[in-house]
Amino acid sequence: MLKIGLTGGIGSGKTTVSNLFTKLDNNKNKVAIVDTDIIARQIVEVDKPAYKEIIKIFGKGILNKDASINRKILRNIIFNSPELKQQLEDITHPRIQAEVNRKISKLKAQYCIIVIPLLFETKSDYAIDRILVVDCDTTTQIKRTTLRDQTTAQDVENIIKVQQSREYRLKQADDIINNNNDLEQLKQQVQQLHSFYLKLAKEYKP
Ligand code: ATP
Repeated sequence: MLKIGLTGGIGSGKTTVSNLFTKLDNNKNKVAIVDTDIIARQIVEVDKPAYKEIIKIFGKGILNKDASINRKILRNIIFNSPELKQQLEDITHPRIQAEVNRKISKLKAQYCIIVIPLLFETKSDYAIDRILVVDCDTTTQIKRTTLRDQTTAQDVENIIKVQQSREYRLKQADDIINNNNDLEQLKQQVQQLHSFYLKLAKEYKP
């Protein structure tokens, strides 16, 4: 199956775009979305194997009252320690990848979009055929993210700093969605790409 890796910086519009792909397809099930962010949350749910391994390394101080992992605390810890970041990724990435492959093997769609927010930031080995980058300028990125998350511009800027540069991402892209404008223009680009991907899917030889 044709596999498109969808990525982009924080708040660039990845979720919005992946939702549009599903909606524009009109439930014809030609495109399927596999979101690695959702999978990353599922594999660390209470008492899952990854959950237990994470607690062994990071201790119970990273837990919420309901015993779930406090992602913000964990993020802050690894933000300051490349070694711990690596250890966390060693626990989570193979499991995320295995779950992505398991999901893909069951799909009946003509092509799928794998949402991989940190495609360029972390070592990963997804067998994707094309890279689709959702792009908007940094000011828009900060404005939309602060509005969505009730966070400060400084916080968003700090995350942007540790992510790959916009230039690098755009250089790696096979396809680019420009998300500087309104949702109508976003929809049009998604529609065009959907038609293009369906055409590629027909010609696809694994
Ligand atoms: P993250 O990297 O943080 O997961 P993301 O790349 O998935 O973010 P979205 O959540 O899709 O980004 O978009 C960020 C915010 O911007 C959301 O509140 C979304 O509704 C809004 N947004 C996205 N695209 C547009 C647009 N074209 N016009 C107006 N608002 C938009």
